[in-house]
Amino acid sequence: MYSHENSTSETTRPLAEAWVAVLEGTPPAARETLAALADQGPAEMASYFYGAMLDDPRANRFLSHDQVRGRLKPAMERWVHQLLRATPDQVEHLIIVQRVIGDVHAQVGIPVDLVTRGARILKQRLSERIIEVAHAPEVAYAAMACLSSSIDIALEGMTLAYTSSRERSARTDAAYRLFSLMQNVSTERERQRALLLDWENSLLYTVAAQAPPNTSMPLSQSDFGLWFTHKGIPSFGESSETRGISQLIAQIDDELGTVAEASTPAERFAVLQPVRSQLAQVRNLLGMLFERVGELDAGRDALTSLLNRRFLPTVLRREIELAARTGESFAVLLLDLDHFKSINDHHGHEGGDRALQHVAAILTQYSRGSDYLFRYGGEEFVVVLVSVNESQALMIASELCSRIAQSPIAMPDGEALPITASIGLALHDGHPDYERLMARADGAMYQAKKQGRNRIILATPELPIAPGLRELERR
Ligand code: GH3
Ligand code: MG
Ligand code: MG
Repeated sequence: MYSHENSTSETTRPLAEAWVAVLEGTPPAARETLAALADQGPAEMASYFYGAMLDDPRANRFLSHDQVRGRLKPAMERWVHQLLRATPDQVEHLIIVQRVIGDVHAQVGIPVDLVTRGARILKQRLSERIIEVAHAPEVAYAAMACLSSSIDIALEGMTLAYTSSRERSARTDAAYRLFSLMQNVSTERERQRALLLDWENSLLYTVAAQAPPNTSMPLSQSDFGLWFTHKGIPSFGESSETRGISQLIAQIDDELGTVAEASTPAERFAVLQPVRSQLAQVRNLLGMLFERVGELDAGRDALTSLLNRRFLPTVLRREIELAARTGESFAVLLLDLDHFKSINDHHGHEGGDRALQHVAAILTQYSRGSDYLFRYGGEEFVVVLVSVNESQALMIASELCSRIAQSPIAMPDGEALPITASIGLALHDGHPDYERLMARADGAMYQAKKQGRNRIILATPELPIAPGLRELERR
């Protein structure tokens, strides 16, 4: 997940150079002062930091979860320790560490101003401590200058990673919005193309019938025009193409006035020419916009018509935010089909695909319309159960589990093939990182397999830790 490719080291090289220069330019006495603080101060720093941040409800949301507190405190102590004891040869590694921290902040969605505030609080407190422990004012000054630059550089490294992560997820969020606005892109494309043609045809018809063109129905007010303004632009996002179409629509509506003034039918057809070529341009631009949407690949999985897993972070981030605001909870259900390899082995890949469609249909039929259904992997599905408590989530999960077990797949040769699923269920526990929630569901699913399959296991703190969660712990 953290790819620090070459282009990344290009962007961070100036940071690394600046950091090395700061450390090398700091006199030994000042570095010893900082090192002395590193050996006594960090624990007190972390407590001070919490004291200062927890009053803010926005900060509280990200910091108050027990697990966050339990992990963040030592992580922050480590961070302070590393900065205070940094040596030039560690700088490269330290910058990678800052980038990982920035990625995590982005994933959880911590606002940048909270991070900079945290850094400011630490800087102030450390400066006070430097004055207390330094042997001479000039040593204190040099130590503070070094510390201040180090924290700034670290923050810059975090922000670099944060920004690119946020941009990536903003693109997915935008794709999701687009996708949910336009449920079916190809149908929408055909419908809008037809509406535009209808409008042109009725214009031609009125002119041919020697009636004045219908100026009471400008293009901007037609079905197409309204759709374009209200749904098209927000769905496609503003671009030179959407601006082009808006301008063309305004121009066409202007020129219709001139058509009305022309006296003979021949004159009217002549004035109509530019309008027709402008309409052709609208069609072209529209085609380009729709084509680009197609390239974003559909939001739905082609085989099962369930949501594509790349939208899962968008949905989970929003549910976590909603839960923090409303106090309601939600749950994630991770479902893996049992012994699926043997279905593939005995019935071929097509048989396997048919089974996947069968299960997707059951999930759709027996979940609520408000829940989100994802194809998560090959034969794994995720259901996001919105606004549920533990017993409601368990009820839905057991309904889905037993429906699957009770509905054998009708194979083409007439065989009724039984199938079961193992389900891991995790209730949102207030932790702001959605990957943790997924890892807990994963761990529970693994237990469901181990305990014999065709069952639901609820993620609890007593369960053995999932490999995915172990991975997260190392960050
Ligand atoms: P278990 O009960 O432990 O889950 O056993 P399993 O056989 O289901 O094992 P596992 O979940 O590890 O393997 C899933 C298999 O599903 C692997 C692959 O052959 C098959 N598979 C994955 N994606 C697809 C797909 O899109 N279509 C088909 N037909 N098969 C798939
Ligand atoms: Mg599997
Ligand atoms: Mg399986």
